[in-house]
Amino acid sequence: MTSGRYPHIDIHTHHHAEIDGLLRIVNVRLDDVTLPAHHPVHGSVGVHPWDADGRNPEQDATVLAAVVEEPWCVAVGEIGLDRVRGPALHTQRHSLDAQLDIAAQHRMPVILHCVRAHADLMQLRKQRRESNPWIIHGFTGHSELAGQLLQLDFHLSFGAAVLEVGSKAREALTTTPLNRLFFETDESGLDIRDIYRAAADLLLRDEEELMLAVSENFHRCFRVDP
Ligand SMILES: [Zn+2]
Repeated sequence: MTSGRYPHIDIHTHHHAEIDGLLRIVNVRLDDVTLPAHHPVHGSVGVHPWDADGRNPEQDATVLAAVVEEPWCVAVGEIGLDRVRGPALHTQRHSLDAQLDIAAQHRMPVILHCVRAHADLMQLRKQRRESNPWIIHGFTGHSELAGQLLQLDFHLSFGAAVLEVGSKAREALTTTPLNRLFFETDESGLDIRDIYRAAADLLLRDEEELMLAVSENFHRCFRVDP
């Protein structure tokens, strides 16, 4: 359980079970939104780039536009680009663009999956000139890349890599301002509290201070009171 006023916020998990003392954003595939059992307390909805093949992005956008009006849906995601896995990049781009349009129109934060496509996303961010928050989830890059993303107003969410001694992500975390920071467990099954604890140790800060900072970021980006 948490000891202070702020919950441990996990902005990206694929595990549906609710856990006391935690505020979690559960990832829901767009194809699953018609199943009421899949509606978490807080969720993000989107078409993952790996699933972008053989779809109709305009039709997906219409469904997404309705879902983001539902109170449990607090973000669009995970959506993004993956240059290592999944369908051709132009297919991924078509799906991504349609979903980014909906996110921008509804001023929703976006949770982004990005594998070796940071340059593409930075280019897109520049071109689209949108002010809704874009959050790179599961950031594992080095601090120089983090710096480039932060300059373009991205937020960074750190997960399991924070626990790996010597990882690039640990160094990047130390150079990320507290007001751009999120944490997540993704598919790992880790306890989000262990990630906060490791991050606090690394940043030489109190865990409470980190929880407060992430709560403020959460409130600002997701417009949900933690
Ligand atoms: Zn994920």
